[in-house]
Amino acid sequence: LQPALHALVQGVAGGGLRFAVTLDRILSSTALPPPPGGVSPPRAVAAQADPARARLRGVTFRYGPQARPVLDDFDLTLSDGTHLAVVGPSGAGKSTLAALLAGLLQPQAGTVRLGGVPVDGDPAVLAGHRVLIPQEAYVFTGTLLDNLRYLCPDADEHRVAAAVERLGLGPLAYRLGGLAATLEPGALSAGERQLVAAVRAYLSPAPLAILDEATCHLDPTAEATVELAFAARPGCLVVVAHRISSALRARQVLILADGRPMLGRHEELLARSATYRELVGHWRGEPATAQPARPLPLGG
Ligand code: ADP
Ligand code: MG
Repeated sequence: LQPALHALVQGVAGGGLRFAVTLDRILSSTALPPPPGGVSPPRAVAAQADPARARLRGVTFRYGPQARPVLDDFDLTLSDGTHLAVVGPSGAGKSTLAALLAGLLQPQAGTVRLGGVPVDGDPAVLAGHRVLIPQEAYVFTGTLLDNLRYLCPDADEHRVAAAVERLGLGPLAYRLGGLAATLEPGALSAGERQLVAAVRAYLSPAPLAILDEATCHLDPTAEATVELAFAARPGCLVVVAHRISSALRARQVLILADGRPMLGRHEELLARSATYRELVGHWRGEPATAQPARPLPLGG
């Protein structure tokens, strides 16, 4: 099924990545509504000990034979304690990198290893290593508790309640009437769904957490609460950032732009990358370097 899935994904132009993520979630059953009588989560395989939580070596990825590579001979190592912000203009490849790290896409060249294990697309194995929170949060009809411990069914209610408080879901849980309240996904705002997805991922046993603009519907304070909670969680954290505050909180920043990724601390990238300076200026609301207005060439 997996090769067919990837062939399918790579053949789908535009929106295919979201499709891949959706399909993976369906295949891995992590997003299926629970069967009557209880939740059946993916069988999470305990992550093996490895100094690197994730290692990309010589990774080249393109969406089609004619397409330019999104990543070209790309290396990245993530160890425990890593808190990495991935930044770059729209279309730079941030979500592609997140999907490669999560094993949802396979590179044409190079290797992706999680905890020393080559990524082979087995959802159960992947679930033991990483948790990816996409921008569109998934919530199913069921109790808030079932939604929250979907990736960690053994979590007792005290642990769930502590995570709810820690990530700022307390007011919503209170308003709904507690953890036993039934959730109707349609009754939640996009930000509330993102908070539910964040607590669910926070409780998962996977040591690598990947947030792909997973808090974009939260206000900056709520976003900071979520990111700081994940940063303090054992393991490592990758945040695809859409605000400068996320980059400033991270220990390292990876900028993807113009096919030349650059990794460093915020100050280093400010000094070394014009694209990063431009992005930071944009985030701060400063006008980008003035470009002379050029009229569009008209045909005829
Ligand atoms: P970002 O998350 O930084 O906005 P993406 O990783 O989504 O960027 O996209 C990187 C590049 O790959 C873009 O040029 C985008 O148009 C292209 N792309 C993304 N998904 C697909 C797909 N399914 N098929 C073809 N091209 C894609
Ligand atoms: Mg993206």
